[in-house]
Formats: sequence, structure tokens, C-alpha cells
Amino acid sequence: MTEELDLDSLPEDIQDLVLSGDMTEKEVLDWLKVEASVESCLRCDLGHLCLHKVFGEGSPKAPFFFVGEAPGEKEDVTGKPFIGKSGILLRKSMYEAGFRKGDVFLSNVLKCRPPKQRQPTQKEVGECFMHLWYQLETIKPKVIVGVGSVALNAFITKPKRAIGSCRGDFLSAYGYKFMAVWHPSYVLRSYQKLRRIELAKDLKKAFALVYPDGRPETND
Ligand code: URA
Repeated sequence: MTEELDLDSLPEDIQDLVLSGDMTEKEVLDWLKVEASVESCLRCDLGHLCLHKVFGEGSPKAPFFFVGEAPGEKEDVTGKPFIGKSGILLRKSMYEAGFRKGDVFLSNVLKCRPPKQRQPTQKEVGECFMHLWYQLETIKPKVIVGVGSVALNAFITKPKRAIGSCRGDFLSAYGYKFMAVWHPSYVLRSYQKLRRIELAKDLKKAFALVYPDGRPETND
């Protein structure tokens, strides 16, 4: 039996991608499967503990795939990524660097919130990487931007790198271009204004790789 795609039941941005030919029906079906598998995931305990799974937000055909650490409290309550204090800084910095709707898919290494803001364990990262991998397979971004050291360590393992020594550099991860940038929560905690400047500079550099002559006009 072949699976049928009910276009009308899809979110408008996905309908647009199908109608413009930027997303095949198979890619949509695969994407819906990844969403469903995140939603029902109980591969680790976090799936039982969180309020919402945070699949991610943005275009499934975005040239930039931003990957943070894990949902925080606000993300857990709403099911949306990067909407707390650090998310606001990230989104503002992205906007200032030129990124617009349609350019980006925003997600995290973990799709569920670890309790009490603790760092993800290596086991949790390993269990959840499958979801990230399937997201990557559909998005096929031109650049992965790893936001913070948890994302850096999830993608770049051999050799392991310290974020301070490689942020802003284009590295290679699973055949994709990968750049790590400071995590905005670190930027907010840091007393050094330089960190904010470095975050802005790195985002502009990632942006320029895809849009060397600036972004085509948009109304967003
Ligand atoms: N919000 C997220 O979604 N991810 C982070 O890494 C931090 C805040």
C-alpha cells in the first residue's frame, strides 16, 4: 500500500514547499514520521519527565540548521525552541546577522528537557541523536550551526574540540559544513562584551557562506 499525502492537512509552509517543488512528497512523509517518532519517543527517561517534546521550528528545507543543547523551562511548557532569555538573544543576533524566516530550522540535541537545567548526559545525547540525524536527512542544510559546546561535542567527536578553540571555524561533520558558536546563555552570563561581538561575527560568517552577496529580498 502506498502512503498518500493529504496536502490540505499540512502546515501552510510545508504546503508551499511541496507546491514550489522544493520538497518532495516522500520528504514530507519522512518529515512527518520523524515528528511522530519524536512525539512518541521514550528512548530515555526524559520522555516521561518532560511536558512537551520540542521537535524544532522553521523550514524543513532551510539552508541553516541551528542546533542548541536542550529545551529549557519555557521551551518545555510551550513545545517551542529558543524562546527563553537566551533564545531571545539568539533570535535577535540571528536577525541582525541577516537570517530570516525560511532560512533556518531551529532545534536541539535533546528534544526533551533535562530536569533542573542539568546538562544532557552522554547517554541521552546518544539516544536522541537518531532524531537529529533524521531531521538532517530531510533538511540537508548547507550549514549546521552548533549553538554551544553540547552541540559541538555531539557533532565533532574525533578529536573532541573545545568551543573556545574552534568557534566561528567551518568544520566538517558527517559530510556537512559545521560551525560552532557561543551559546547565548554563556554570552548572557559572561561579563565580557567581546562574547556578544564574537557571536554576532560568527553568525554573519555562517550567513555569508550561503549568501555571499547578501540575502535576496524578502518581506519577512
Ligand atoms: N533553549 C533551547 O531551545 N535550547 C537551548 O540550548 C537553550 C535554550
